[in-house]
Amino acid sequence: MVLIPFLYEVLLPKDHFSMINLAAPVGYGDPTFFAETLQSCYLPAGYTSDVFWTLLVAKYHGWPGGASSIAVIIVGICLFIVAYKYIKWRITASYLAATTVFSMIMYVVYGGDALLRLCFHLFVGSSIFLAFFMATDPATTPLTYSGQCIFGFGLGVLTVLMQTYMNFLGGSILALVIMNLTSPLLDRAGLQKPIEEKVEKKLPKGKQFETIKTTSCIRCGACMVVCCHNLSPILIKEAFDKGNSKVLKKLRADLCDGCGNCTFVCPARIDLRNFTLRAKASLRTAKN
Ligand code: SF4
Ligand code: SF4
Repeated sequence: MVLIPFLYEVLLPKDHFSMINLAAPVGYGDPTFFAETLQSCYLPAGYTSDVFWTLLVAKYHGWPGGASSIAVIIVGICLFIVAYKYIKWRITASYLAATTVFSMIMYVVYGGDALLRLCFHLFVGSSIFLAFFMATDPATTPLTYSGQCIFGFGLGVLTVLMQTYMNFLGGSILALVIMNLTSPLLDRAGLQKPIEEKVEKKLPKGKQFETIKTTSCIRCGACMVVCCHNLSPILIKEAFDKGNSKVLKKLRADLCDGCGNCTFVCPARIDLRNFTLRAKASLRTAKN
């Protein structure tokens, strides 16, 4: 995947790389100008419309999620409102902010039409679908709030750079693959400082289940938000599973007092309290 842009001359159809050049002023004019080229790339032959209409409402091309940008935004916002507790909206917000800032920097450097350049970076290909749905995939994105903001920012910067200098309309997808590789590292960014005293956190209303079915962790980060000692129960569980007492010590598993908040909120129904207490006990044994 990482090599795809460098192989674009071989892998991509001609109309996707040979004409649109963003490392230059973008604007309107004759058929060789940016807007007209973009139209010819996206619309069926003989179909004409305003370039903004094409980018925002009627995209015709085969990138994943390359449907109408407006429809994607409406569905995305509705989903964020309904499931705001579990969706990592900070990634979307920082991605959109970084893309806007960096496309404006490119406008200052190369000139042309600022709005056209901005709309291109925000709405071309899968970009907007990626911002709302692919980039917020819980399994492949950071757990901490700071990690999520850095992730979204990096994604935006890489997207603009790839679209500008590699002539690769799918720059956002490649940028996402690269940023996904940084997730384990970003999980460590902005970890809350463990506190010795207990702070009662407000928990959502409980539900009674007759049988408890657990699933794999979906990396929502909820357990880290509710821990009354600001611990990272899921990272403690992972370190405990690997028998890594060095990391357990660093994550201060010894502070867990078994309140059970983490188990209570976990949508995957993982008994994090049990794992954390066992990790605490293992640290005690290691000391003796
Ligand atoms: S059981 Fe332990 S890790 Fe879980 S929320 Fe309570 S103190 Fe934190
Ligand atoms: S262990 Fe549960 S609460 Fe914690 S990140 Fe995974 S799914 Fe979310």
